[in-house]
Amino acid sequence: MDVQEIKVFAPATIANVSCGFDVMGCCLDSVGDIMVLKRRSEKGIVISKIHGETLPMEPEKNVAGVAIMALLDALNEQPDFGFDIEIDKRIKPGSGIGSSAASAAGAVFAANELLNRPFTNHELIPFAAEGERAACGAPIADNVAPALLGGFTLVKETEPIKVIELPSIDGLYATIIHPQIEIKTSLSRDILPDHVSLKKAIHQWANVGSLVHALHTNDHELFADSLKDYIVEPHRSKLIPEFDNVIKASVDAGALGGGISGSGPSIFTFSKSEQIADNVKLAIEKIYKNTSIPFHVYTSRINELGVKIIHKK
Ligand code: ADP
Repeated sequence: MDVQEIKVFAPATIANVSCGFDVMGCCLDSVGDIMVLKRRSEKGIVISKIHGETLPMEPEKNVAGVAIMALLDALNEQPDFGFDIEIDKRIKPGSGIGSSAASAAGAVFAANELLNRPFTNHELIPFAAEGERAACGAPIADNVAPALLGGFTLVKETEPIKVIELPSIDGLYATIIHPQIEIKTSLSRDILPDHVSLKKAIHQWANVGSLVHALHTNDHELFADSLKDYIVEPHRSKLIPEFDNVIKASVDAGALGGGISGSGPSIFTFSKSEQIADNVKLAIEKIYKNTSIPFHVYTSRINELGVKIIHKK
């Protein structure tokens, strides 16, 4: 029987995994939005409810609507029904953990189910990336790819989008702090250097290669040793209060390492067990409690599946 209604978990994601700036991302499990998509008898897309945040209700301005439009454009035959979207937005926009990407990925995943799956999850990536265009002006895939595929992903090319799925390390957990400050996108872009020295570039691509190898060989030590960003982090971290102290305290509490999630202000760290991730959480909270900045700290294991179906009927 045709699916009439589907409820999904649309996960938050970490993009810019340290040395993998603009290419590597990974998917979270306990932080994400809930979305419900229903068939409607009239054609077209309607966003009927957004709970939790004030976001555009017009489908052409909301990444969820734009992503579904891109999917529909790629179909040979248009469905004889429309889509009703409800979003329970639990990931704060602008936090650096893929708020818009979750909506774009969740929307195309759920719409694909209502259409009886004309596309694989991998094929949905460019549609979700088109949705991202509504949020940031470019069809970027570094958050939507891990949201749709789960685990770690590497965006190898952008035109056309080519994504490589990478394995995750057994038992890996992330601890993420979202300091509730606003960093202007223009500032976080302007602070980056126009040129990169060859010496730094060599360090960086050596680390990306060894990070990928560590994921394939389940090597925690090499993973920890590769989580170093010589190019972006030294500049952008200046915009995030207590960044160096958070990373140091996390590593002292047992974390493998960390960096800036997306374009910040969230900071991520990875740990090899839930218990260590919880200790890291306490260490990070201790630092931020001494500031006047409101914050949230999350721990999550790495989500190997990406968007998940909660129920469908
Ligand atoms: P993050 O920094 O967590 O990755 P984004 O920068 O991706 O968050 O997304 C925030 C921007 O996207 C905001 O300007 C917001 O208004 C816009 N936007 C449009 N549709 C959505 C949506 N469904 N969910 C979240 N943000 C959306």
